[in-house]
Amino acid sequence: MLILMHSQSTPEQIEKVKNRISALNLTPHVIPGQLRCAIGITGNKGAISPDIFKSLPGVVQCIPVTKPYKLISREVRQEDTVIDVNGAKIGGRDLTIIAGPCAVENEQQIMTIAEQLSGMGVKFLRGGAFKPRTSPYSFQGLGEAGLKLLAKARDSFGMRLVSEVIDVETLPLVAEYVDVIQIGARNMYNYSLLKNVGQLTKPVLLKRGLSATLEEFLMAAEYIVSHGNFNVILCERGIRTFSDFSRNTLDMNVVPTVKQISHLPIIVDPSHASGDRKTVIPLARGAVAVGADGVIIEVHPDPENAVSDGPQSLYPMQFQQLLGQLNELGRFRLSE
Ligand code: PEP
Ligand code: MN
Repeated sequence: MLILMHSQSTPEQIEKVKNRISALNLTPHVIPGQLRCAIGITGNKGAISPDIFKSLPGVVQCIPVTKPYKLISREVRQEDTVIDVNGAKIGGRDLTIIAGPCAVENEQQIMTIAEQLSGMGVKFLRGGAFKPRTSPYSFQGLGEAGLKLLAKARDSFGMRLVSEVIDVETLPLVAEYVDVIQIGARNMYNYSLLKNVGQLTKPVLLKRGLSATLEEFLMAAEYIVSHGNFNVILCERGIRTFSDFSRNTLDMNVVPTVKQISHLPIIVDPSHASGDRKTVIPLARGAVAVGADGVIIEVHPDPENAVSDGPQSLYPMQFQQLLGQLNELGRFRLSE
């Protein structure tokens, strides 16, 4: 159930509605909106009678929410969520470009690529300091030393950092350094991690699980939002199918579908979807063409010698060319 408040409703009226919800042992969620305040209700097993709220002062309408995901649905909030990350916006009219290596390897590598990318106008730098690798013998990331190098790159070139958190234990550390906390595909089902990032206000980039249905993906986002953090960015990064010629199968269909059913921004990761730099480029263009709010792309100063995901990492020159094309395509967003 969603309760729409009058645009001139007072804080006392909102408080009264919240108290009435809490008295029923349900949870109220005040949903930020430009025009009016809405209050979502979660925790109910069956339908709630609108009569309980309709007569309260300031209440305009009570709308039943039919989807299993509530707070992230368009039913609850019509306007797009736009997330402001130190002046750079994700969602709405802006096209977000996040780029950088798969993993932070050393100071020279991250400083070189950050300088190149910021010179191209890229505002978000990606780089893993904690890496969830399939093999325990593969490079696991530099840990805090990697976060420190990322912070140095951010401060030197005025960028914003996107980096992955892999467990609850290291969440406070990662949150201290980064501007956007990435939850990787392998952790999309890690509900305790989702609840913990939900208690923060830092934006969260949530990747779709390797075999997650769209509903499971959206429910993972609902976990974060229902714990108080509305700053969630969805990321389609390819799923496992019987098709085995590419690393994963990019499910481009989810982009316009998510746009219809959720107010959250959705970006695409063509790098992990493809696994091969040759197809990363057209997939990135496709993502922007179908209406994604942005892309996250692996770029390395020396892909041949990258410690992880070298074959799918773009050369800086290739990326620069792609960026020009993406910005061209992105201009259509302004006229939509
Ligand atoms: C990554 O972004 O480096 C990564 C590990 O991605 P994913 O979780 O999508 O596999
Ligand atoms: Mn990678």
